[in-house]
Amino acid sequence: MTELFSVGDPIADTKAPDGPVETRWDRRRFSAKLVNPANKRKLSVIVVGTGLAGGSAAATLGELGYRVRSYCYQDSPRRAHSIAAQGGINAAKNYRNDGDSVHRLFYDTVKGGDFRSRESNVHRLAQVSVEIIDQCVAQGVPFAREYGGLLDTRSFGGAQVSRTFYARGQTGQQLLLGAYQALERQVAAGTVEMFTRHEMLELIVVDGRARGIVVRDMVTGEISTDLADAVVLASGGYGNVFFLSTNAKGCNVTATWRAHRKGALFANPCYTQIHPTCIPVSGDHQSKLTLMSESLRNDGRVWVPKKAGDDRAAADIPEDERDYYLERIYPAFGNLVPRDIASRAAKNVCDEGRGVGPGGLGVYLDFADAIGRLGRKAVEAKYGNLFEMYERITGEDPYEVPMRIYPAVHYTMGGLWVDYDLQATIPGLFVIGEANFSDHGANRLGASALMQGLADGYFVLPNTIGDYLAAGPFEKLTADHPDVARTRTDVEDRIAKLLAVDGDRTVDSFHRELGRIMWEYCGMERTDAGLRKAIDLIRGLRNEFWQRVRVPGDGEGLNQSLERAGRVADFFELAELMCIDALHRTESCGGHFRAESQTPEGEAERDDENFSYVAAWEFTGTGDAPVLHKEDLIFEYVHPTQRSYK
Ligand SMILES: Cc1cc2nc3c(=O)[nH]c(=O)nc-3n(C[C@H](O)[C@H](O)[C@H](O)COP(=O)(O)OP(=O)(O)OC[C@H]3O[C@@H](n4cnc5c(N)ncnc54)[C@H](O)[C@@H]3O)c2cc1C
Repeated sequence: MTELFSVGDPIADTKAPDGPVETRWDRRRFSAKLVNPANKRKLSVIVVGTGLAGGSAAATLGELGYRVRSYCYQDSPRRAHSIAAQGGINAAKNYRNDGDSVHRLFYDTVKGGDFRSRESNVHRLAQVSVEIIDQCVAQGVPFAREYGGLLDTRSFGGAQVSRTFYARGQTGQQLLLGAYQALERQVAAGTVEMFTRHEMLELIVVDGRARGIVVRDMVTGEISTDLADAVVLASGGYGNVFFLSTNAKGCNVTATWRAHRKGALFANPCYTQIHPTCIPVSGDHQSKLTLMSESLRNDGRVWVPKKAGDDRAAADIPEDERDYYLERIYPAFGNLVPRDIASRAAKNVCDEGRGVGPGGLGVYLDFADAIGRLGRKAVEAKYGNLFEMYERITGEDPYEVPMRIYPAVHYTMGGLWVDYDLQATIPGLFVIGEANFSDHGANRLGASALMQGLADGYFVLPNTIGDYLAAGPFEKLTADHPDVARTRTDVEDRIAKLLAVDGDRTVDSFHRELGRIMWEYCGMERTDAGLRKAIDLIRGLRNEFWQRVRVPGDGEGLNQSLERAGRVADFFELAELMCIDALHRTESCGGHFRAESQTPEGEAERDDENFSYVAAWEFTGTGDAPVLHKEDLIFEYVHPTQRSYK
């Protein structure tokens, strides 16, 4: 295996304070250098991304007085993928008085990350979760409320307390509208300048510091550079490397991958979260998958027929011939087991020939009991928009027949390596939200991504970036600085190269084939032989891409094929690294299931002795062996145990 990668020096998170975990964040905030308000006006920050992470960061940095320039590729910041988040956001408010606390959220999240995340970061996340809810309520985010007026909560997988705050099935949308309003307020105040329909295609590094970006105006095709004292990437996750995923079609890895190629380490790329409740694939025509929120597992019961090959309609299968397999195998958590466990269990019953629907790749999520117990009206009030969405897509009415669901790629826990301050290995480059790797470990639980995005953007970054910027403003740069000009030329050359191939295969056909390879060999279950095969297939397909891809049109104006071609080219390189990372980690941990490493009961078996580390990868050239830097994980408060949800 060593020919596929080499092992370099270990890496450490030198910014994380030691001492009692409860006071680490306070102490870091106190020790971080401050920037005088008058000096903030002299400091500029580029923020790439306007989702929950980037939108909240740009708004807060603007409010603090920095000069912010904010970028997104959509026509409005409001269209960032965060808007799709349905289920909710965790916070340790304990409004239910059901035993929740900051410590319990910390504990559940470390455990939910299968002991592959940092205690310091996760504790900070749990602490800040409480402030997020107050902040969003103050902005007017319409969280669901109970009759008594308190904010309502619901349960999510992997937790036995009810701590997920929600706004029907549109939590991301409502939170993003809150962040967007805060952002627009700063735009109106003149502290934030907004650039929509601009795609970052390269990071500019001068004298070892991140100093700017190269962007393409997606409407005019103009390439330009933007220079600042620091760059923040909030560019989201890379689930679309699988082609079919629940992510918005535009989600891509380009911003972080380009930074990785410039020296930023990429951590844990193989950790992918597969979500158990998605509408099953219905055919080759599909270009994306749709999530049915996890919140549905609060009331929906998952089952398949007991007998393999039973193709009777659900209503014709009597109760005693149904297998409510999650309730049977995991009685303590039942239908609310964590996502990796629910996903693998669905795959197992389908592999046994007990799946339902076309191709046998589906399981039932049944609301008959809930409707009987609570009444249709109550179910409608909680999940109405999700039921409607399901009916529109499948043509089946979930009030009458059970939903059919199957796992799909949903979230990526890997991302650029950052320290406690959220700074990457390139000084001056900060990475927040789904784009970094920091807080989730191997099996991110539900409702914790929104929490992390907003924690990073509203509370963490605005405190930590000052420690870096206090040494600024840095040397003034102009577009004709040799490093700046060279980076811009690199972008122009790459675009010209993509257009020059002039081949006979569409970008999408390559992307679809790459996605199939990734799902087959680096999806829900991975094996040594499968991953090796995937690496060969990816390399072959990548070479073919550069010889046969057809990008019609030119670079002078709107050209969506060109945009996609650049993103797919980056996906090819990322896919190879994901497989190498998955191959080297010969243990199973949460979101990464290695078939060779399972307990006799078929559960994921970790290898704490050999793999209790963050795998941070260094780029050495396309197709060249990357270098692995290990960051050891130390557990002082939540001691690693085999996860059990039985
Ligand atoms: C269907 C679905 C439902 C979900 N539900 C939940 C939930 O209920 N609870 C939960 O906690 N999590 C949920 N998640 C996960 C969560 O929504 C995401 O992890 C989170 O919203 C990511 O936020 P972000 O700000 O990091 O990135 P995003 O919201 O993806 O924003 C990325 C931004 O970066 C910009 N960008 C990217 N690349 C470039 C570039 N090269 N140049 C310029 N701009 C660029 C985009 O324009 C966009 O503005 C869900 C995910 C999905 C797919």
